[in-house]
Amino acid sequence: MRGLRLIFKLSTRLAFIATLLLWANSRCLGQTPTYDLLLKGGHVLDPANNVDSVMDVAVASGKIAAVAKDIPTAKAKKVVDVAGLYVVPGLIDIHYHIGHGGAPLDWFTPQARAHLQPLGIPADLALVSGTTTIVDAGTAGAETFLLEKEEVIDRAQVRVLAFLNIVGNGMDGGLEQSVDEMDIKACAETIKKYPDIIVGVKTAHYWTEGPWDGEHTPWAAVDRAIACAESAKLPVMYDFWPRPERTYADLILKKARPGDIHTHVFAQQFPIILKDGKVNPILAEARNRGIVFDVGHGQGSFWFRNAVPAAKQGFLPDSISTDLHVGDYRTVSMTNVISKFRAMGVPLFDLIRRSTVNPAHEIHREELGTLSAGKEADIAVLEELHGKFGYIDCGLAKMRADVQVVARMTIRAGRIAYDPSGLSMIEWEKARPQYFNNPSEGDSTPAMAEDPR
Ligand SMILES: [Zn+2]
Repeated sequence: MRGLRLIFKLSTRLAFIATLLLWANSRCLGQTPTYDLLLKGGHVLDPANNVDSVMDVAVASGKIAAVAKDIPTAKAKKVVDVAGLYVVPGLIDIHYHIGHGGAPLDWFTPQARAHLQPLGIPADLALVSGTTTIVDAGTAGAETFLLEKEEVIDRAQVRVLAFLNIVGNGMDGGLEQSVDEMDIKACAETIKKYPDIIVGVKTAHYWTEGPWDGEHTPWAAVDRAIACAESAKLPVMYDFWPRPERTYADLILKKARPGDIHTHVFAQQFPIILKDGKVNPILAEARNRGIVFDVGHGQGSFWFRNAVPAAKQGFLPDSISTDLHVGDYRTVSMTNVISKFRAMGVPLFDLIRRSTVNPAHEIHREELGTLSAGKEADIAVLEELHGKFGYIDCGLAKMRADVQVVARMTIRAGRIAYDPSGLSMIEWEKARPQYFNNPSEGDSTPAMAEDPR
């Protein structure tokens, strides 16, 4: 018995040593995959690093591990052929509205204090256009932010940051015209509590028509938003409606501080193009002061009559964003807005800059919007199509085009989050045996073509 036990002990020890040797041997020969994922042969556009060429991108442990020419496929557990496609940093959309953002869920009942439909849409819908970071543009305020965080932000796969509405109840809650709901102290305290999520302050929709009175002074909302942002050293995002007593020039040349963002820049209410067809010189003047211009397309804030002549004369918004909300998500997306500018003749590299590194800088998150090694692996694989296409603006006018940019794959923190054409998947005929099994009765586990990734 003792002899047997000794032999058993010796053999397990020998087996252990043999395994160790095999492992060391495979390491020496480079057989152990170093990378979890390798995107092979794509055209990398990474404006933050000035990269514009065909390269491979390797991902390990959720981070960008390497961007280089000819990374050996043997070094990766999974290889995706992306030849003919563009590989870019995950897009950043700094104007998005997540649902429900604190708006009352009983909005349709007679007893609700406001009857406005909640504005937001699912956060993860952003992933279908190559977007890996969205910034909620003030759907929630100090009173409703925690609800928005717990209900949506903490549960989303896409990274969600936020501009905090200066109105405590947030957007579309029926209280956006009440100046005493714009509590500077509550706003500043909320920002202090969530510095990892809140990147700025938002003001929107304030007193666009009514006569001025003691409570409704022209700059009340803008001034309060600035006061809150000032204490947190963060930018303000302005959704603004000019009136004779508060002009657009006053906003961008006097009120707004360097680093503040004017969203909806090509909306109908701004004097972007003068009568002589030239771009209004106040835009260049404001830009010299450090004012940032953002698209914020939305359902009512993008007119070709402003955008096309401005782009032709070289005035482009610093950042591209969607203003996605319940009214427009069927027609607008990051790739749709990028496509419109691409159709106006703007090079794709420039548009990726304005959808990645620029917005990251605007929200003081320099670690985002790049494919630098060591950064979180947020990646979009895009395709540029050529053919007959059409785009629409918010005046429901059409622009014909011969180019369209679409998202083929989205990777968030190293995980493939969107791949509708199966770029990363095996053909069904070559699937592993389990895929062909009929599940036994009562077992509803999906039979997967490949082992879990
Ligand atoms: Zn908006």
